[in-house]
Amino acid sequence: MPSYKNLGVRTLINAVDTYTIIGGSLMPEEVIHAMVEAGKSFVNIEELQDKAGQRLAQLTRNESALITNGAAAGMAIVTAACVAGDDLAKAERLPDTLGMKNEVIMHRSQRNGYDHAIRQVGVKLVEIGNVDVTYPWQLESAINDRTACIFYFDAATLKKGVLPLETVIEIGQKHGIPVIVDAAAQLPPVENLWRFTEMGATAAIFSGGKTLRGPQCTGLVVGKRDLIHACRIHMSPRHSIGRSMKVGKEEMMGLLAAVERYIRLDHAKVTHELEQRVQLIQKSLNNPGLTVQRVFPGPVGQHYPRAAVILDSSMPLSALELKNQLEWGEPGIMVGLTPDEQGIIINPLNLQDHEIPLIIDRMKALLSME
Ligand SMILES: *Cc1c(COP(=O)(O)O)cnc(C)c1O
Repeated sequence: MPSYKNLGVRTLINAVDTYTIIGGSLMPEEVIHAMVEAGKSFVNIEELQDKAGQRLAQLTRNESALITNGAAAGMAIVTAACVAGDDLAKAERLPDTLGMKNEVIMHRSQRNGYDHAIRQVGVKLVEIGNVDVTYPWQLESAINDRTACIFYFDAATLKKGVLPLETVIEIGQKHGIPVIVDAAAQLPPVENLWRFTEMGATAAIFSGGKTLRGPQCTGLVVGKRDLIHACRIHMSPRHSIGRSMKVGKEEMMGLLAAVERYIRLDHAKVTHELEQRVQLIQKSLNNPGLTVQRVFPGPVGQHYPRAAVILDSSMPLSALELKNQLEWGEPGIMVGLTPDEQGIIINPLNLQDHEIPLIIDRMKALLSME
């Protein structure tokens, strides 16, 4: 059997984040098992998407739900649905959007690398506001009869220059324009699976391969029945724009198992465990030259703590050198940097308990500590 080892590919310890570039997250046994079992039979893919969608809707307290090939694919599919609805002739023409609703409104300060997933559908992004401030009238005046939807990236830590989601939803509803929340990494809290849509967003999009710990190539779209229905026209197995974003039966069953598990989790206990990991890191690195601080919330506002380890000038390495040397050791340990680059950030979210002493020992050795 091929293995990372046989291939000569180094395995990594993820003390940074659910980054796609290092493999996102690890699937729990029950998710792997669901995928293995799903691989043993043929099924009708549309029937599976229907029934898994119904179950996911129930679990996430939404009208309807859909499994996509990653959150970014969810963004593309939802955009297609907002542009062409469930019109087969229009769907077939995408990404040529001539004569269709082909404008998508976004805050200028929320533009990010993932908006290519929206643009790939042939729409024009209409930016509102600037990095400092956006006014409600700017959103109102950007809306016209070509507006397909408003995309909103909900990151609690990036509120500068952004209208509150409540305001965006109110204006969207007034003009009959769908509001789509990119909540790819916005877990925990688990309530986010229903909070955005309960607030009135038309759909919210989550990554299946981040905190949900589903298969890497899955995404979850939850929201209004009509929109989710229209999404299906644009998806594999149909020959439309989403055909190249195929979701397999194994991924569907894996994501379903992951969401079932995530909903069932004792979230207070999980949070407590993450806090304990941060405390263990604080205790273990109680050394002259180091200051360890608890950082809250997560990188885009998620409800979990991280540890920032600040290095003073008595240390033999800078924070960046420490980060790099951790990464290039065996196994590689991936950590983050504090915004001022004076320290490293250790994120407990993706760690396994036995990995913490390993990280501590490696850091002590690199920093010539006892
Ligand atoms: C990770 C992320 C995505 C993409 O999610 P995938 O499941 O990897 O496709 C989209 N938007 C935001 C804000 C993200 O953080």
